Amino acid sequence: MTSERPAPPNVNDDRAIGVIGTGIMGRSMAGHLLAAGYEVHVFNRTRSKAEPLLAAGATWHDTPGDVAEASDVVITMVGMPADVEEVYFGGTKAVPEGSGLVGRSRSGTLLIDMTTSSPTLACRIASAAAGRGLAAIDAPVTGGDVGARAATLTIMLGGDAAACERARPMLNRLGKSVTRLGAAGAGQRCKLANQIAVAVGMVAWCEALAHARAGGLDAAAVQQVISGGAAGSWGLTNLAPRAIAGDMAPGFLVKHLLKDIGLARECAAESGLVLPGLETAERLYALAATHGWTDEGTQVLYRLYDHGLAAETGA
Ligand code: NAP
Repeated sequence: MTSERPAPPNVNDDRAIGVIGTGIMGRSMAGHLLAAGYEVHVFNRTRSKAEPLLAAGATWHDTPGDVAEASDVVITMVGMPADVEEVYFGGTKAVPEGSGLVGRSRSGTLLIDMTTSSPTLACRIASAAAGRGLAAIDAPVTGGDVGARAATLTIMLGGDAAACERARPMLNRLGKSVTRLGAAGAGQRCKLANQIAVAVGMVAWCEALAHARAGGLDAAAVQQVISGGAAGSWGLTNLAPRAIAGDMAPGFLVKHLLKDIGLARECAAESGLVLPGLETAERLYALAATHGWTDEGTQVLYRLYDHGLAAETGA
């Protein structure tokens, strides 16, 4: 005799995926989900940035809430914590109160924030979502534009263990490593640890190459030699060649690194932790911002040394 009961929820039931934020990272990520056969629903503040995805078969919606209503799972990859707040909770002109993802998602929807954002905000989203019968996890990434294009991102999860498991089949399409660090906010806290290493590491390779050039060496040759040794890093391998060639296109935007440094400093202050290396990196990037370089790639730091400007920080 066949059972009348519905089949148990199965990860394969998640077929319709919303993606909000189709910039440098979100565009590649949504593309991988489309290629994997998911039905992809998109929204981005600037519609033109979603056009390549629409041409590849994604469906456009006019608001985050409209995406939510069409989706089993919604991935967000926007810019700043304020953007995350708007998309999840509304309360702005673009997204009125109650029209965000938390207000408009169908019961049982899984919300995945992959933006680099605040651990405290991640906890607030998880608890508001639970109150409406939704699941929400934080899942920030590292690996850069290169990793997003190649689907080799490292993904750091925070949130309910079952919700994280449910997200895995989709996240495995975007990254090579998907690790749960703990409860809501733990993914963001891990990502901020990553950003401390990234910010301080950028200063390290810029200074190494400035030193080599000041001694009459060819920066490109030095980059090649030392990137395979003990000084090797993702930035030295991937970003230094762009900087040496004068290519400052983002990659990873200066304004986003400044946002991450601010978030990391906030968390450190809460724990009474002093991070002098990070403070130096912040002063240098703040100086880059005063030169109007906030929408350049983070490798633009090299230009401060190139132009003898780094001394201006008093660092
Ligand atoms: P991006 O190119 O600026 O993409 C963000 C996209 O989100 C933009 O297209 C933006 O719209 C859209 N957006 C922002 N606020 C929105 C809102 N309220 N409603 C709808 N759409 C909104 O930045 P990204 O490089 O992809 O980075 C996205 C996030 O990932 C950031 O938090 C960043 O720190 C993090 N991240 C970046 C990298 C990297 O290497 N790029 C690596 C790891 C993590 P507009 O087109 O109108 O600006």
